[in-house]
Formats: sequence, structure tokens, C-alpha cells
Amino acid sequence: MNQNPMEAEIRRRIAAAGPMPVREYMALCLSHPEHGYYMTRDPLGRAGDFITAPEVSQMFGELLGLWASAVWQAMGSPARIRLVELGPGRGTLMHDALRAALVVPDFHAAVAVHLVEISPALIARQRQKLTGLGVPVTWHATLDDVPEGPVIVIGNEFLDALPVIQMVRLEDGWHERVIELDPAGHFTFGTAADAVPRFEQLLPVRLRNASIGALYEWRSDRFALELGRRIARDGGAALLIDYGHTRSGLGETLQAVAGHGYADPLAAPGSVDLTAHVDFEALTHAVECMGARSHGPLTQGEFLNRLGIDVRAATLKASVDAQAARDIDAALMRLTGAGRTDMGELFKVIAFSHRSLATLPGFEPPA
Ligand code: SAH
Repeated sequence: MNQNPMEAEIRRRIAAAGPMPVREYMALCLSHPEHGYYMTRDPLGRAGDFITAPEVSQMFGELLGLWASAVWQAMGSPARIRLVELGPGRGTLMHDALRAALVVPDFHAAVAVHLVEISPALIARQRQKLTGLGVPVTWHATLDDVPEGPVIVIGNEFLDALPVIQMVRLEDGWHERVIELDPAGHFTFGTAADAVPRFEQLLPVRLRNASIGALYEWRSDRFALELGRRIARDGGAALLIDYGHTRSGLGETLQAVAGHGYADPLAAPGSVDLTAHVDFEALTHAVECMGARSHGPLTQGEFLNRLGIDVRAATLKASVDAQAARDIDAALMRLTGAGRTDMGELFKVIAFSHRSLATLPGFEPPA
């Protein structure tokens, strides 16, 4: 059989330990040290598997850089601030953010950049992109490793890559969904033999009477609790942009993407991107429980409009030729529009802050 190395590894593990929980499958496929999807490649851009907002237009990172400088001012302009980016990809967002932040020189001078990244391939790209800009940059494997002190955290399409547990409601309770082998030896979804006796208590009360066959996805609260703890203790704010649902619900969202289209999540483990939607209600609950405030979520379109993306687009268009101006309009539409391939409605923006920050730029209540 023609097997990729990740597939061989998963077969070995199933043979040794039995059916593999979806959570473990997703974690392995994305971040196995040798064969994981993110460990071996740069998945972004036209030649890659998907395009993200900062790769669509420089306007995205620029507005987020200005957002960060405004938050820093609201914090009382501390002499030192850690600007943390989660899963920085090619470093494009941070590059654009730092350039825009030059209009607030004291902010730019106060910044130390901390990048949370697991991919050696992408760390190399980020290093190339971000050295020589006059701002210190350090890399960390997790948010926990970023040294203490006030933080401004940014993360675009980071949370969707964190593994989810899938649970299926059967007659006798909730069972974890697993990957197993069908009689022909192909990977297939199944359910663990035994119910998890107390899983129901993790569900929002309104979902506890789910019907037989219902599926619930739960992303470990570990990251959210650390983010909340960090902001509540050290001060600052976080801005997270991702696709997902504003209320916890039932249903499967695990998906595979390759070559800018949907793929079978079980067909080529380690060579396709796996993501699952973000449950913004569960995220907010965990972060708030640690003592931080939440703001939003808003749709990405609404948020970027509030930050004045149209003004930025007009400024950029003023100094370029007609074709480049059309490209800027197309990017503006892609980032803020509501069409099927646009990001404006699909993506949500949520922010968290220290209790002392009653509101954040872009999230002010309507006058
Ligand atoms: N934010 C970038 C890239 C998004 S892709 C952009 O918008 O273009 C997801 C990013 O998160 C990649 O950089 C990937 O290597 C990183 N990543 C995925 N899982 C991670 C994990 N568990 N810890 C840290 N980084 C992770």
C-alpha cells in the first residue's frame, strides 16, 4: 500500500492502542514533530492550501497595528509592552502592524515582539521577514512561555488549528468519536466503546437533552484559561480573529482544506490542513472565568469598518494606477464583504481585556 509517513504512524498507533480519538488525530496530523502538516511546510498563499486575511492585503495588519497602539495608549502608554502574536504564519501581519505603528513612535519604541509558533518552516520565514526592523523578536512554543508583564495579544486563524474533542450522543450517553479501520483497512470514523460517564456536565444546560446521534465539539479550555489568567494578572488585551459560531451548538465542523478546496479529513493525514470552528461562547466563558473582560464578538467586516478600512483603502488607492486600485477594492471586498468567498461575515473578531479597560477600540458601544 502506498502510505504517507503520517498515515503509517497512525496505523501503528491504532494497532498498538486501539481506535484513536479525533482530538489525538487532529493534534498529530497538524503538529507531529516530523510529519505534521504545519511542521513541514508553508501552507499559505496562492501556491499553498489557503489564503488568510493578512495575505489578502496589507490593510489588515496595518489596522491591527494601529489597534494595538491605541490599546497601548488606553493602558497608559507603559514604557515596555509585549506584543504577542499567536501562529504568525509568514510574519506578514506583524510586519504590516509594525510599519503602521511607526506613526506612534513611543509605542513602536516600547514594543518587544513575542511570536508563539510551532512550525520550524514558518519560524524561518518569520525570522527573515521581521529581522532588521529595529524591534526585538523572540519565539516561544506556547503562550505560557512568554515572560511576564503587560501584553497585547493578536491571533488570526490560530484557534481553529487547536484540536477538538468530538463527542457523540448514543443510547447510553456521550461517547468520544474515534478514527478506526474499516474491514477494507481504510480509516473511518467510529465511536469509543464506553460512554464517558460525566461528560454531559461539560455541556451548556440547553444542549443536555440532545437527541441520539448528536455530535458536540469541545476544544480544551487550556489555552483560553491561560490567556484569561495572563491578561487578568499582568494587564493588557487580546484580539482573536477566526471563523466559528457565537453560541455553543451541536454539529460537526471538523474540516480539511488543501489546494484552496475542501478535502477528506481522513484521506491524506499530515498533508492537508485540519481545522474546526471556534466556539466563541465557550472561549468567552473560560477567559471570563479567569477574571478578564470580553468584548464582542463582531463580524470581521463590522470590525474593520469601525477601524476605518475604507479610509485606508482610499489613501492607498490615491497613489497607484487603475489596475492596482481595482486590486485594492477587490481586497477590501474580500476582507469585509458578505459573499460566499468573502471573509467579512464568516470571520468573527473577539477581544479580551484587563478589567481596568472598560472598552477597546472598535468595540465601543454605539453612541
Ligand atoms: N496568522 C497567520 C497564519 C495562520 S495559519 C495568518 O493569518 O496568515 C496557523 C498558524 O498557527 C501557523 O503559523 C501555524 O504554524 C501556527 N500553529 C498551528 N498550531 C499551533 C500551535 N499549537 N501552537 C503554536 N502555533 C501553531
